Amino acid sequence: MFINFQALGCRLNEAELESWAGQFMKLGHQVTTNAAEADVVVFNSCAVTAQADRKSRQQIGRLQRANPEAKLIVTGCHASLNPEAVKNTLGVDLVIDNQQKDQLVDQTLRFLGEQPESLRVGTQIGTSENALLKRGRHRGFIKIQDGCRYRCTYCIVTIARGAERSRSRQDIVDEINQMHRQGVQEIALTGVHVGGYGSDIDSSLYALLSEILDHTEIPRIRLASVEPWDLPDHFFKLFENDRLMPHMHLPIQSGCDSVLRRMARRCKTAEFERLVDQVRSLVTLFNVTTDLITGFPGETEQEWRQTVGFVEKLGFGHMHIFTYSARAGTKAARLPDQVEQATKKMRSREMHLLAARLKQQELSKHVGRSASVLWEQQMSDSVDQWVGYTPHYHKIAAFDANIRAATIGDVSIDSVSSDGLLLQHHLSQPKVAIGDLAQHVSRG
Ligand code: SF4
Repeated sequence: MFINFQALGCRLNEAELESWAGQFMKLGHQVTTNAAEADVVVFNSCAVTAQADRKSRQQIGRLQRANPEAKLIVTGCHASLNPEAVKNTLGVDLVIDNQQKDQLVDQTLRFLGEQPESLRVGTQIGTSENALLKRGRHRGFIKIQDGCRYRCTYCIVTIARGAERSRSRQDIVDEINQMHRQGVQEIALTGVHVGGYGSDIDSSLYALLSEILDHTEIPRIRLASVEPWDLPDHFFKLFENDRLMPHMHLPIQSGCDSVLRRMARRCKTAEFERLVDQVRSLVTLFNVTTDLITGFPGETEQEWRQTVGFVEKLGFGHMHIFTYSARAGTKAARLPDQVEQATKKMRSREMHLLAARLKQQELSKHVGRSASVLWEQQMSDSVDQWVGYTPHYHKIAAFDANIRAATIGDVSIDSVSSDGLLLQHHLSQPKVAIGDLAQHVSRG
């Protein structure tokens, strides 16, 4: 059987796809990147915003039209929050909600009248091939936990994903070692509330990372987004091991405590600043990136100025900036003093400009240093120009005929691209006028 996997939304959705693809491949099925030639299409949907909901509906329609013959399996947050509507959508054959995701392969095989994986013994065909690399990706997302015990007032994910549940440490270590054996050089640990890992199995993220560092040899380990609380004081000491990449994505959402209170966030600005100062004092040029919502209900001009001041003071390597949109089913959608669209947009523009300046400042600190880069993508077949990521999770471009995908190589960091988005490595004898690699990269 040929199976195509599609996802919208977060890295957790991506990690789940990789896991299912690996399970189906182990049972002798084929993974195809082309939905039009698949027998089965698995779509992991998203509902984080109203726009994501709309995109999920549109994607279901697109997949149905692209291949009306294929069996269409829909899972994920959009499907979990709207099971009946999705079930009654043209072309959808099976809906699996978030709570059942771990049994998706079994349920799909049962639905297709095949013997589910759990009932097959000794028929593991086994494959050295890795589903991730087969899909042209080089960083493996590893799901470590699901669900969240908190109730941030704007968040629908906590409703769609349910209570916290963690995978065993051994399970995660085994998956990382298998990926490494299959040629993957870098993994990122992901979940809904990564910092809450282990709360249900008497363990912790610190214990998990220590075990991974002790019992795996994969060269690069990353953390996907981590809520900036539930981290013990000694947590950042782990970054003294240079296999743990010096970057964390810590969503702050607002730089003003009164707004954070209305969001029911567990971390106030002073605590966040202490956390960031602590890790920056421990690890050279540690890269902190973040998420920020503009125009949260009730956000006054004075509160907004506080947020701008706080962001300017701390500085971030990269920011994801979201314009608040009311999400039906969340507390925030029922809060008074919803901010006008024009004001939200204006604040978003202002924050994007600030974020671009802060990113350029952060990148400039790396010029004149060298970095070991995981090369991921050749930008065009014609010339040897490649893009990859440094340990600090900064994107870097280089012209170099010796580079190969999924390899790690040390290069000098010679400049920042004029658009302030990329680091650049210049060959001593460049083939083409160096000027600005970014022009080539952005032209692709
Ligand atoms: S901690 Fe994160 S996942 Fe949990 S409710 Fe808040 S925003 Fe949502």
